[in-house]
Amino acid sequence: MLDDSIAAISTSLGEGGVGIVRISGRDAFRIADKVISTAGGNSNWLKESHRMHYGRIADPATGKIIDEVLFSAMKAPKTYTREDVVEINCHGGYIPLKETLRVVLAAGARMAEPGEFTKRAFLNGRIDLAQAEAVIDIIRAKTENALKIAVSQLDGRLSEKLAFIQDKILTMLAGMEAVIDFPEEDIQEESNEKLTGSTGEIIGELEALLKLAATGKIYREGVKTAIIGRPNVGKSSLLNSLLGQERAIVTSIPGTTRDIIQETINIKGIPLVLTDTAGLRETEDLVEKIGVRKARELAREADLLLLVMDAQDFYTQEDKRILRELDFSKTILVINKIDLNETLSYKEEFPIPVVKISSLSGQGMTALEDSIEELITQGKAALSETVIVSRARHEDAIYRANKHMEELLAGFSTGVPLDLLSIDLRSAWEALGEINGSTVTEDLLDRIFSDFCIGK
Ligand code: GDP
Repeated sequence: MLDDSIAAISTSLGEGGVGIVRISGRDAFRIADKVISTAGGNSNWLKESHRMHYGRIADPATGKIIDEVLFSAMKAPKTYTREDVVEINCHGGYIPLKETLRVVLAAGARMAEPGEFTKRAFLNGRIDLAQAEAVIDIIRAKTENALKIAVSQLDGRLSEKLAFIQDKILTMLAGMEAVIDFPEEDIQEESNEKLTGSTGEIIGELEALLKLAATGKIYREGVKTAIIGRPNVGKSSLLNSLLGQERAIVTSIPGTTRDIIQETINIKGIPLVLTDTAGLRETEDLVEKIGVRKARELAREADLLLLVMDAQDFYTQEDKRILRELDFSKTILVINKIDLNETLSYKEEFPIPVVKISSLSGQGMTALEDSIEELITQGKAALSETVIVSRARHEDAIYRANKHMEELLAGFSTGVPLDLLSIDLRSAWEALGEINGSTVTEDLLDRIFSDFCIGK
């Protein structure tokens, strides 16, 4: 498969100053040479790798000029894919890019699959799987913090940490095999002690990584947030206020916000995936019932709930009932429309953070952001310089590796034969190998790279 040359438009489609068509593979230069003409005579550029050249793209079949371009030809192995790569900088419009890609494909390239350039970088050994995944995480980063985690992963920080642990496991395996091979020797007891010690150390390392996964997930996937409350308290207005622009339909007719709207916003570096829902209240209207059921479901699934109440009509029976239904540990009470009731006071002691705001005037919005940050980051590892696990796939593999190590530990204390225990140890090693891709299946690879965009 790696024998053929692939091509795709690598920039996003839309109007822009420049757009790039990328070609990678054994025939990349030959293909580019067919469609590019340069003032200095054709093919001259082939001698100068990693330099920008000026030329024209023409359709070899008709001789018609398609675009005036700058292009770079990069000789393997110092390229993104470790293959020969040509990047053609066209004018950034849909038609010049599409036409350029068309003639490149006609000249012998195959249309690249999603993520195929990065997949080749992995298959050709330039980066490992965790680093390949970091590439897509960089592209999709919603906040600076998400970017920071992804860049450190691309840099190989996670891979290094895992390689270190895998290495320890290999040393243990070698130790175990020695004992298995020479059972008569008097090394059994001493070795058992050593193995138990190493197992404990590795469990400690894996658990530390798992703890960090909660932080990583927040920044990579975002915090699923639902704005809930009875109709007309200002949920849509709050959503709009958080979004900073009028996206949701704001209406004063009770129960009309039936459509579920989703947006990602950046609150102090934390990506909030906001969902606006219909009011959580009893109703006879069927269409609305569907909305309400959905609202309950969303409230259950959310990581953060903003329960909105109306300062003018505060803590009604309905408000009480809704509050009772919610998971307090993830809820903030937002008292809205404080501009209409500046002197609002209440006797209740709520078991959750309370913030007074006005979605209309913007009053209290900073306090709300502080409160959100506090609730989300409390009890979680800080975003420091340490390695952060951000993908569920990685977390799952580490979790399984840890389970095997725990079984190993239990096995040592109950005297399970070493040759049986070595199976657990090997499984732990393999589980960790799924993260950097050393023990990954073709199937999983396909699944991971199909999540990429075309051209990357
Ligand atoms: P929802 O049904 O909970 O989504 O409520 P909406 O966001 O549609 O708001 C209901 C009504 O309250 C609209 O007329 C809004 O303009 C008004 N409203 C929302 N927030 C505020 C606020 O902070 N102050 C004032 N004075 N009116 C608000």
